[in-house]
Amino acid sequence: MALVTKAIKGTKDVLPKDAHKNQYIEATCFDIAERFGYKEIRTPVFEHTELFQRGVGDTTDVVQKEMYTFDDKGGRSITLRPEGTAGAVRSYLENGLCNEALPQKVCYHTSCYRYEKPQAGRLREFHQFGIECFGTASPLADAEIIAVAKSIFDTLEIKDLSLEINSIGCPTCRAEYHKALKEYFESKKDDLCDTCKDRLDRNPMRILDCKSPVCSAIAEGAPVVIDYLCDECREHFDMVQKYLKAQSIDFTINPKIVRGLDYYTKTVFEFVSNSIGAQGTVCGGGRYDGLVEELGGQRTASLGFGMGLERLMLLMEAQNAPFPEPNVADLFIVALGEKATLKAVEIAKDMRAEGFGCLLDLNQRSVRAQMKYADKLGAKFNVVIGDNEVDTGIAKLKNMSTGEETEIALETFVNGFYNISLSEQLADLEINGEEFDFSSLFSVGGEK
Ligand code: ATP
Ligand code: MG
Repeated sequence: MALVTKAIKGTKDVLPKDAHKNQYIEATCFDIAERFGYKEIRTPVFEHTELFQRGVGDTTDVVQKEMYTFDDKGGRSITLRPEGTAGAVRSYLENGLCNEALPQKVCYHTSCYRYEKPQAGRLREFHQFGIECFGTASPLADAEIIAVAKSIFDTLEIKDLSLEINSIGCPTCRAEYHKALKEYFESKKDDLCDTCKDRLDRNPMRILDCKSPVCSAIAEGAPVVIDYLCDECREHFDMVQKYLKAQSIDFTINPKIVRGLDYYTKTVFEFVSNSIGAQGTVCGGGRYDGLVEELGGQRTASLGFGMGLERLMLLMEAQNAPFPEPNVADLFIVALGEKATLKAVEIAKDMRAEGFGCLLDLNQRSVRAQMKYADKLGAKFNVVIGDNEVDTGIAKLKNMSTGEETEIALETFVNGFYNISLSEQLADLEINGEEFDFSSLFSVGGEK
């Protein structure tokens, strides 16, 4: 049993060949969120256990079954974050962001840890992109966070994701609803799973979220929360829908979406796909007007979402969504012998300082072997430097896609490289299907 060469169950490596895909997704998330005014926040991977007990909720599966909790050497109970919201709220309060202009809008890319049964789209270490918006009760904000998620999916060219929304009301209307729900489930108590029997007293809404087939079948017939909304919650929900329609964001109302915690309020939503099997929820979020207060702050209407990045990747791969090509180096220098290698090192430094990607063979193999290596790395240009080139000061720069060779002076290598690579790029430039006439550029202003 070679444990050291086996990753922990439910964890996944991202290999270099796939790194650009992950970077693309992450950069797109941040870019879109920034367009809406969300700025990155980074919080620690672990926090006091109590933060999650209160911030995620004692009655949730996450807290009851899924947390990675341990005592550190000082005897404090520590938990690896199972989600991003609680840490963001803690930081918002601790760092006084609550005293700055509201709403405060933050976003993050975090690893999350949950002890779950690993399967496709369900890991023990996974990653979320999330946003939080603190200090606004306006339905405009509910529609905005949904628009951020939607805009990310659109930019990534993801298809067939449906947006499902619901309102779970406020503590006032929910009291009525809980009563009705309890009455309903009480009559079917014997058939519920043991966990749900327990939930019946503690938080009957969680039963609606149970994944056991028997409980979900029973839940089908349960009263739905939107029938119990108070006037304010109903109006809020109507406005959210209007703002979504104004942005041409399609949605369906799914009364079964609940987030089952006391401090979650009003709007809840999920983006769901059918292309990736059972774990189809790629993004979940909503309003949590009671959470900041629960964690020791002033009552602050707030909301946010968490997007599962592994599920997003699965979805993009399943749909063959477009990814950008990985970057390749601009130049590979094949250097032979000590003199040439010294020159190559100097040129490489200058090239990189100008922003070019430039590689050499650290193992200083034969020309053939270096060429083969360069080929595998896929650099755009190649140059061979041996004693002869160092003596004459001239080498041949080879375009690896066209095979074209051009002489280049070692003394002014970077300049030469600029000219050659740029003129080749420009030669390919077409505007509206026609070759671009460069002389037009230089005659701007004309002769006087
Ligand atoms: P599920 O019902 O699938 O367990 P959840 O309600 O526990 O999801 P949230 O806490 O809302 O999920 O987390 C937000 C998003 O994070 C989910 O929609 C999903 O995309 C992703 N996610 C949650 N748990 C996992 C996991 N174990 N592995 C991979 N992604 C996950
Ligand atoms: Mg879960």
